Amino acid sequence: EKHYFKTFRDKKSMTMDGRHVELGANIGGVEDVDSALANGAECIGLFRTEFLYMESKVHPSEEVQYEAYRRVLEKMGDKPVVVRTLDIGGDKELDYLKMEHELNPFLGNRALRLCLNTPELFRTQLRALLKASRWGNLHIMLPMVATIDELREVKGLLEEIEKELLEEDASLGIGYKLGIMVEIPATAILADVFAKEVDFFSIGTNDLIQYTFAADRMNEKVAYLYQPYNPSLLRLIKMVADAAHKEGKWVGMCGEMAGEVQALPLLMGLGLDEFSMSAPSILRIRALLSKVRMEDAAQLAEAALGMENQEQVGTMIKQYMDKLE
Ligand code: PEP
Ligand code: MG
Repeated sequence: EKHYFKTFRDKKSMTMDGRHVELGANIGGVEDVDSALANGAECIGLFRTEFLYMESKVHPSEEVQYEAYRRVLEKMGDKPVVVRTLDIGGDKELDYLKMEHELNPFLGNRALRLCLNTPELFRTQLRALLKASRWGNLHIMLPMVATIDELREVKGLLEEIEKELLEEDASLGIGYKLGIMVEIPATAILADVFAKEVDFFSIGTNDLIQYTFAADRMNEKVAYLYQPYNPSLLRLIKMVADAAHKEGKWVGMCGEMAGEVQALPLLMGLGLDEFSMSAPSILRIRALLSKVRMEDAAQLAEAALGMENQEQVGTMIKQYMDKLE
């Protein structure tokens, strides 16, 4: 079976009837890139930069970050590298950053909120990213965006920093795409507004599910509410995909769901363009993709959107998968 999957390493990610999507890897640092490529990744769909910060005893300097981003970009060549800006807080802490105790850390000062509240921290990362952008195909992605105003604030900051960098060195080639993670229901609901102002979306199902069902992703007692196949979540995904496509933008997924075999046909039917997952999942997903027909995927999605609960969707998917084997 392993050998069978390996035959997909250098193949395109394509359905039986020729619809192409991108399959990428989630990474935590430059040390993961070789394995991503060895597993046939067509892109890095999520570079979780928080590891750079968590592995360090001090705030990683602009130079240290620049070096890390440059190396990942260089290794990937023309292939897209989606770098997520710092997503700390929630359950993740840093020794050198004073964070106040919060009653609800997952609803508190985390990710983009923390970055916007700690401008020096954020500026350092954005400077390093823009400087590194000349070395590859950089996509900057903002985590936990909840309002269009947050997005606009970051855009303002990026413009300011770009100007500043070009004043320091006019020959610096700066070029990148800007996207957001859709992992807060408010953002999914307003995806049509966001779609006009970003280059891409990536759906973070781990958090989107947590916030949609109001169920802490770390709490086992409520783990039954982690429901990727609940029609409520599927409708959100559909809204995001439709909104993106209406503006000619692409929409990916980088939560755990993106690497789940049972989810793939449904997600194809909902219109996703890119899937980013742990590297060892890529070939299995690519192999399955080659057996999917878009007509069937669309039918699955349409039926699922009209269902009542996760169980009904699960039963339908199982029937479809059994026939596929
Ligand atoms: C997500 O929320 O789905 C995601 C990919 O981000 P993280 O798991 O790092 O919060
Ligand atoms: Mg998340």
